[in-house]
Amino acid sequence: MSVADNLHKITSEIPSHVTLVAVTKTYPSSIIKEAYDYGYKIYGENRVQELTEKYEQLPRDVEWHLIGHLQTNKVKFIIHCVSLIHSVDSLKLLSEINRSAQALNRRVNCLLQIHVAQEETKFGLSFAEAEDIIKQQDSFEHVSIKGLMGMATLTKNKEQIQKEFHSLYHFFETLKGGFPGFTILSMGMSSDYKIAIDEGSTMIRVGSAIFGSRN
Ligand SMILES: *Cc1c(COP(=O)(O)O)cnc(C)c1O
Repeated sequence: MSVADNLHKITSEIPSHVTLVAVTKTYPSSIIKEAYDYGYKIYGENRVQELTEKYEQLPRDVEWHLIGHLQTNKVKFIIHCVSLIHSVDSLKLLSEINRSAQALNRRVNCLLQIHVAQEETKFGLSFAEAEDIIKQQDSFEHVSIKGLMGMATLTKNKEQIQKEFHSLYHFFETLKGGFPGFTILSMGMSSDYKIAIDEGSTMIRVGSAIFGSRN
C-alpha cells in the first residue's frame, strides 16, 4: 500500500469530527511530499530541528504541529512555523511560548500534555497541575489553550489503554464546561487510535500506519 492509499484508508474510516495529524518524524521530505501531493496538509513532528528543516522543505500551506517534548530554550526556533503545540508540560514553557509569540505579535494554539500512562518516562502534567495552569491562562495573552493531549501506556492490554484514555476524556469533559475554547482532545497513535476515538478523541497522531515502520 502506498502512502496515499494508507491516508485514504484512515481518513475515510475515521469520523468527521476527528482530525488526523500525520506524524512525519524520521521520514524524509520526499515521502512526506507523497502525502502532500495526495492533498494532505496536517503534519506532526516531535523534534524542533526536524520540524524547522521540513518547514523549509515543504510548501507553506502545510500546518505543522509539534507533538514532542519542547525545551524552553528552543521555543524561539519553532514559534514562527507551528500551528499547534501538543506538548505543553509546564507553566514555565507556556510562559516562554507566550513571550515568543508576543514578539511575533501572534497567538499560538497549545494543548496541555497530561500524564495518564503508567510508564514513568512519559512527560506530562497531573490533572491538578493542569488545572493550576488553566486558572492562570488569562495572564498569557499570546497563547490559546485549546485542549489536552495524552499517550496511553505501550501495552497490548486493551482495557488498560481504554481506562487511561477514558480518564483523560473525563477530565477534558469536566474542563470543557468552564472553558468553551476547549475543543481538542489529542489522543491515539497507530496502535491505539481506534480505541482512542471510541473513548472520545478529537485528534489522532498517526505515523507508522501511514508511512511504514520506522527503524
Ligand atoms: C511518534 C509519535 C506518534 C505516532 O506514532 P506511530 O506509532 O508512528 O503512529 C504520536 N504521538 C507522539 C507524541 C509521537 O512521538
